Amino acid sequence: MLRPHTLKIVEIFTSLQGEGLRQGEPTIFIRFSGCNLRCSFCDTKYAWQRGRDYSAEQVVEKIKKIRERFPVGWVCLTGGEPLLQDLRLLIRLLKKEKFKVQVETNATLYYPLAADWLSISPKPKNFFFCAAYRRLAKEVKIVVTKDLRVRVVEKLRRAFPRTTPILLQPQSNTRWSQNLAKKLVREALKAGLANVRLSVQLHKIVRLR
Ligand code: SF4
Repeated sequence: MLRPHTLKIVEIFTSLQGEGLRQGEPTIFIRFSGCNLRCSFCDTKYAWQRGRDYSAEQVVEKIKKIRERFPVGWVCLTGGEPLLQDLRLLIRLLKKEKFKVQVETNATLYYPLAADWLSISPKPKNFFFCAAYRRLAKEVKIVVTKDLRVRVVEKLRRAFPRTTPILLQPQSNTRWSQNLAKKLVREALKAGLANVRLSVQLHKIVRLR
């Protein structure tokens, strides 16, 4: 259930976007607490439990202060799973301050949001995503786990417009996962699937913060 009055947040920090098409862009991140999934490969398990309560107004004040020394245009709401909480007021206030807002979600939850960029990352085993994301997602990020096969990539590819990239992200940037990701990109190409790409997490290669 959405928590309307307070936002439980694990951390607010500055960095470069490490994932997806916005990779490399300086961004202020807000990491929300809690997740409705428990992926074995999760690299932010610390976000499942911890966190401090803030009002949306307090968060925006903090972000405005950060902007004084880190003058960026983008704020990324991430987790955990941010859509477990009610992000609408926060996004409204951020946009009033002329920020662009990216939301990263596992796509199992949906309610209308005035975000500028929705990054979705459906998770194994069923790779479920709410239907609204078919037209709203700017990118679909898939962690390349050991049992990922091209038929799953194909199913996802066919579910979204061709212009929405399917980004295969090696799990924790391990060698075996990089190799599997490259193999899957080749197999997707052979199967005639457009816009399937390898996408390495920048923060697993370069220390970004
Ligand atoms: S959905 Fe994301 S944050 Fe949640 S457990 Fe899976 S990897 Fe971690």
